Amino acid sequence: MRPSHIAVTAALLASLSFVATPAGRTEPDASESFYPSLIAAYHGVEPLAASSRDDRSGGIKEDIPSKYAARYSQWKTEFLSTEAGRNQWASYQSNPHFTLTISISRENAEGATTGKYKWNDAGQLVAATITLGARIDEGYPNPIYFPVMNSLVPTETSNRIDGDTLAATKIAHEFGHVNRTNKVDSAVYQLQGQLIPQYNKIFLTNGRNENDPRLIEMVQKIGGTPVQIWEDREYWGEANAMVYLRDRFTEESMRCPLFSKIRHSVDLYAKNYEPRFLEIARATPSRKVCGWP
Ligand SMILES: [Zn+2]
Repeated sequence: MRPSHIAVTAALLASLSFVATPAGRTEPDASESFYPSLIAAYHGVEPLAASSRDDRSGGIKEDIPSKYAARYSQWKTEFLSTEAGRNQWASYQSNPHFTLTISISRENAEGATTGKYKWNDAGQLVAATITLGARIDEGYPNPIYFPVMNSLVPTETSNRIDGDTLAATKIAHEFGHVNRTNKVDSAVYQLQGQLIPQYNKIFLTNGRNENDPRLIEMVQKIGGTPVQIWEDREYWGEANAMVYLRDRFTEESMRCPLFSKIRHSVDLYAKNYEPRFLEIARATPSRKVCGWP
């Protein structure tokens, strides 16, 4: 085993200590929700229930308490300073069939999360909610599941990236989740939501045996183990965060150190998902793939 593989294995084992949703919440089945702890460290508790508000009017609904309005406005301006940010915002803003709610919460202040997905009878996604922490301009998620956001950690040799850019990168990550959920088969996504808690319950009580026939059957139905499904979702979020950074830093002197750090983390922790990051690195105007050979 190469040292990096040992690190990955240790990290994955650590991530198998699931974080249960605190009991006492109002959502049905919330007590049965499990989330790998390394993802929960950034995303907090996975929101399950669809919003009870009337959210059928389409567009983007910004539900921002006035005390957070000023900082939210700075983060949004920063996100919209890029072509990718503007295009994605405009596509949701002008969509009458999909409502994206953006809110801010004091809980999980340095993280953010996306959920409360709603589909119509035809299987089309009609609503989602992004909840931003009130201090997303601080804090760097771990490099294992979040290689792109982690690339912004200041080093002695790199220029410090300011907090608004960090916040906008987190917004881009959450938009990445919405973009992706819009594309996947709603039946499979919903089945994953049902079976992942069951899978974890069995896994934690069968001596952590992945070869349990009940688990193998579930993996076939939902397209992977819970950890595989979660990492795939996270790396789609991160891919969109990378698109934002690519557009944000047009100068190679700024972009290349970030892309090199991303490549380093992807190489260590997300090798199977490298193509989706490499594709973004290649799609720069100069076509210089900083960091990637
Ligand atoms: Zn995420």
